[in-house]
Formats: sequence, C-alpha cells, structure tokens
Amino acid sequence: MQKIFSITPFTTLDYPDKVAAVVWFAGCNMRCVYCYNVEVVDSNGTIGTDEVCSFLDRRIGKLNGIVFSGGECTANPLFLKLAREVKARNFCLKVDTNGSHPEILKSAIDEGLIDYIALDFKAPKEKFVGVTGSNLYEKFSSTLKYLLEINFDFEVRTTVHADLLSEIDIAKMSETLYEFGYRGNYYLQKFFDTGENFGNLSDPKNSFDLAKITSKLPIKLRNF
Ligand code: SF4
Repeated sequence: MQKIFSITPFTTLDYPDKVAAVVWFAGCNMRCVYCYNVEVVDSNGTIGTDEVCSFLDRRIGKLNGIVFSGGECTANPLFLKLAREVKARNFCLKVDTNGSHPEILKSAIDEGLIDYIALDFKAPKEKFVGVTGSNLYEKFSSTLKYLLEINFDFEVRTTVHADLLSEIDIAKMSETLYEFGYRGNYYLQKFFDTGENFGNLSDPKNSFDLAKITSKLPIKLRNF
C-alpha cells in the first residue's frame, strides 16, 4: 500500500497566510511530462500513519496549517484517514490536487476536513492526454464543477512550459474556467528545470509572451 514519501516540517510558502508543514503523498495517477517530483510519483513511500500522527502531535501549537501534496494525495489510500488526523488536531488543511478524484474530495469536504484547495488545470481537453499521460480530463472537470457548485474556497493553477502550452492554450483554459463560473485568480507557474522530469524537458524552445494572453480572469504569476 502506498504511504507517505516525506514530510517538510516547516514552510511559509505553500499555504497562504499559514505557517505549515507539507505531507508528500507517494504515488500519482498522472505522468505529467514536466513533473520533477519523479521520485515521489514512482515511490510507494515508507512513512505510515503512526509516524505522521507523531509528527502532527509534536507540531501542535507551532504550526497552524498542513498541506497535503505529492504525488497525488487524493489517489493515496491514506488520504481520508490522515485528513481526519489533521483536523482532529485543529490544523487547517490545504490540499494540492490534480482533481482526478472528485468523489474523495467530496467525502472529505462533506466531513469538514478540507479548508482550502489548489486545483491544477493541466491542459485544455485536446492536450490533456499529451501533457498528463492520463485520460482524466472529465474527472478534473467534475472536480472543478463540484467546487464551484458548493462555492468552496479554492484556486486554480497551471504549470506553463511553452513547448506544451501556448498563449492561445492559456487563453482558452482561462475562458473554460470563466464559462464554468470560476471568478478567482488564475495562477500561472513557470516550468522549473531540475534536470529530471518525465518528459526529459529542458527550457522551452518556443517563446511565451504573457502580454498575448487574453483572459477575463485575473492572471497571477508565480516564478515568472
Ligand atoms: S505534476 Fe503530474 S505527475 Fe507530477 S505529481 Fe502532479 S499530477 Fe502527478
């Protein structure tokens, strides 16, 4: 059974306005070509529930937020159990997700376990398989619709590598979000070349001009 790959004990960058730790869930149901968390995605993890709970106990009073990331945390069998452990200790929980498990997110939200979600919008429908190595666009789409229906507190973000997504693709994705009813910020984060990723990508050959993106949503940049 897949477990936890590692824990980052302290961060002020991964959860807005919170002092947090990051729990990195092993495994993922996508294989995004730009993904540099190759080791996390391909691992089964070694850290079990007891060890995470001991960590959480030691951080009470020192942190106010926990981030579930990965890998894909909602695809990991420990997700709900550990979300309950986080909330039992009164931490706020942020979930970073590719949106591929709307039913798991719904269960967790119904139980009041999640406070904030960062939802990855990987690619427009016609490019989704090529970018993610998965056929999970409709699942992502269901998650987006569900979060909008219940007016949940979430953000949408896209990693940009100009050889995979053009300015026109981003404009189209922004329009898709707008048509679904999303009115929050649309975050763009630049591909980060660590020298290792599933697609053996390096810096893009194509140019990418932010000024060419038309968007009814406010676009916010990270690492550009
Ligand atoms: S970037 Fe893609 S492959 Fe990597 S962890 Fe996220 S969803 Fe999985």
